[in-house]
Amino acid sequence: MNKSIILNGREISYELERKSVKNINLRIRADCSVYVSASARVADSVIEGFLQKKADYILSALDKYAEIARSAPPARNYVTGESFYYLGKELRLVVTQGKSNVSLDGVCLTVSVPDICDNALKEKLINKWYDAQCAEVFDEIISEIYPIFRKHLAMPRVTLRNMSSRWGSCRMKRGAITLNKRLIETPLEAVEYVVMHEFVHFLHPNHSSKFYDTLSSLMPDWKVRKKLLESAVLNRPLKT
Ligand SMILES: [Zn+2]
Repeated sequence: MNKSIILNGREISYELERKSVKNINLRIRADCSVYVSASARVADSVIEGFLQKKADYILSALDKYAEIARSAPPARNYVTGESFYYLGKELRLVVTQGKSNVSLDGVCLTVSVPDICDNALKEKLINKWYDAQCAEVFDEIISEIYPIFRKHLAMPRVTLRNMSSRWGSCRMKRGAITLNKRLIETPLEAVEYVVMHEFVHFLHPNHSSKFYDTLSSLMPDWKVRKKLLESAVLNRPLKT
């Protein structure tokens, strides 16, 4: 039976199954559904009281699963018409038969493969294309930003990776920066913000007021850029 309850001001729906179990059992599933089982003898009000007591746990588990779902790359079918993103712009995938190749023409991302059903090859080619774009775009941004920091540090080692919880990170002592490859899907201004943010960490490792003072002096519009990053198609609350 589908039910709903208000927990800390948030309405949550849950599935209640009556069966012969000893206690009230609660399960929060990765798809953000809530399942409760209890014996027919347990009154609804007792179940509701139980859920109220567990409110913090339920809400934080739901938030956690929602965040994981948002950060997972979308499942792909690699068919014509599918949307991809590049620097904040929506691209339409066009699949054609031919020699293995990927090209961008306006808003069409065309992938050619000998067998148009070969999803593994399409995925490999598209990932390779994105990697090349990341290398080019991120390199250009870094070469514009690094001179500002030249007097404080040697050129950092930059690693590009797919990350599920961060847009970027800075390992100050190792002189290394890691950038999330999926930044290439967000607007250029947002990528510049993340690169600047990580560089400022070489001067101020924590998000102290000095960190933000420096960031603001070097990139006065960083808040607008951060908003752009947060509202990017991925809509993921990743850290920097
Ligand atoms: Zn940071």
